Amino acid sequence: ARTYIVTGSASGIGATTAALLRDRGERVIGIDLHGADVEADLSTPEGRVDAAAAATELAGGTIDAIIACAGISAPIPATISVNYFGVVELLQALLPALKKSDAPRAAVVSSMASLQTNSPEMVEAALAGDETTAREIAQKLADQGPRAGYLVYPSSKRALSRWVRRQSISADWAGNGIPLNAVAPGTVLTPMTADLLSTPEGAKMADDAVPMPLNYHQSPESIAYLLLWLTSVENTHLAGQVIYDDGGADATLRGDDI
Ligand code: NAD
Repeated sequence: ARTYIVTGSASGIGATTAALLRDRGERVIGIDLHGADVEADLSTPEGRVDAAAAATELAGGTIDAIIACAGISAPIPATISVNYFGVVELLQALLPALKKSDAPRAAVVSSMASLQTNSPEMVEAALAGDETTAREIAQKLADQGPRAGYLVYPSSKRALSRWVRRQSISADWAGNGIPLNAVAPGTVLTPMTADLLSTPEGAKMADDAVPMPLNYHQSPESIAYLLLWLTSVENTHLAGQVIYDDGGADATLRGDDI
C-alpha cells in the first residue's frame, strides 16, 4: 500500500478522497481541524509545521503522495492563509518525507474561481511568501464590503494555481521526480456550497459565475477520482497543469482564450 496525506479529510472532497483511497487498500493519514488522524490548524505557520511533523512521524518517515483539499471560501484574511499558505508551506514541510518515496506525487485543489476577477496585489504578495501583507490586503477588501471581499477567494486560488505552475518544474518537484498538479472544480455538492445552493437566488449566483453545461453540479467523487489518478504510480509525466474538472465551465467562459 502507498501512504497518502490528505488535508481537509473530515469533509467534502477530502473526506471522499480519503474514503476512496482506503477502499483501494491505501494508507491514509488525514489532516483537518477536527475528526482527523492529525488535528491541526493550517491557517497558522505553527499549525502547518506541527501538522507536517505529526504526519511524517505517523507515516514512519516516508510519504508517497500528498493531496491538499483543505480550504475555506469566506471573504476573510484566513482564506488566503488556509487556501494558499496552508497548502504551499505544508507541501514544502512534507517534501523531505515525500522525496523518500519510490513514486512520489502531489496534487492540490484550486478552483474554477481562480479565473475570476481577483486582487493582483494579493496574488503577488502570496507568491512572494508574504503572508502578513496578503492578509492585510484581504482585510482591506473585506472592510470595503461583500463585492470587494469576494475577491479574496479567487485571489487565493489564482495564487495557488500559479505556485503549482512555477514549482512543478523546479528542482524541488520536477528535479526530485515528483509530478505536482492542481485540480480546479466547478460547483461541487459539499458542505462548502450547501447554504449557497439552498436558495434559488444563491443557486442562480453560483450558476451565473460557474456555468456547467456537462452534467450540472458535480459530486465530490468527480474530483476525487482525478486526484487519485494524478497521485497514482500511473502518472509519470503530467506536471504543472491546472485541470479544470468543471462540467465545461472553463470551456464556456474562456472559450478560445487558451
Ligand atoms: P468542505 O468545507 O466540505 O471541506 C473543507 C475541509 O477543510 C473541512 O473539513 C475543513 O475543516 C477543512 N479546513 C478548513 N480550514 C482548515 C484549517 N484551518 N486547517 C485544517 N483544515 C481546515 O469543502 P469542500 O467543498 O470539500 O472543499 C475542498 C476544497 O475544494 C477547498 O480547497 C475548496 O476551496 C475547493 N473547491 C470547492 C468547490 C465547491 O464547489 N465545493 C469548488 C471549487 C473548489
